[in-house]
Amino acid sequence: MTESTEMAWREQLLASTQQLAALGLNKGTSGNLSVRTDSGFLLTPSGMNVAQMDANSMVKMQWDGGFELGKKPSSEWRFHRDILLAKPEINAVVHTHSTFATTLACLHKAIPAFHYMIAIAGGDSIECADYALFGSQALSDNALLALSERKACLLANHGMIALGRDLPHALSVTLEVENLAEQYWRTLQVGEPKLLSSAEMREVFSQFKGYADWG
Ligand code: 13P
Ligand code: ZN
Repeated sequence: MTESTEMAWREQLLASTQQLAALGLNKGTSGNLSVRTDSGFLLTPSGMNVAQMDANSMVKMQWDGGFELGKKPSSEWRFHRDILLAKPEINAVVHTHSTFATTLACLHKAIPAFHYMIAIAGGDSIECADYALFGSQALSDNALLALSERKACLLANHGMIALGRDLPHALSVTLEVENLAEQYWRTLQVGEPKLLSSAEMREVFSQFKGYADWG
């Protein structure tokens, strides 16, 4: 990776982190983001408020967990690393404590096919990973299980993870998952939603092929 390419990745990761904060999807030091590079991945720093971050705050990571001397990578480096290793088509990982996704996650509620847009996460549900301590290998293992054939999952008593082929795609998935979580939560205030059937969801997936760029 040349110095200028690395700086471009750092700037993109910073811009995406700032965008999430501006949208109110992450507050304070909550959440973290990563992007694959040609030699490993870049990850947001641990415990740092977005307002204090600059491009050089981003931490260069190796696949074995090694990182740039003098920096402190996000405590969730394990699930960022494990997801990027397990899913070659994914190049960006976003983790948030966004309000509605987290509300459902605190209820250990997966999001079912109550709305056709659930398809953007790759299946007919967004699963909720079992609870495990933040920063632990158990959390990473649980998240990977909930992310099988999916681009998003909730994390019990914690938040959510969204994936994308690049940072803009991962951000779009994040926004839509939070939107779906809010709509599902609101629906639950009134009653039990009528869910789409597997056959109806199959139609959605085929219709989706010509729609937008969610793949
Ligand atoms: P970091 O500041 O270490 O990234 O932790 C924030 C977080 O969301 C932990 O799950
Ligand atoms: Zn978190």
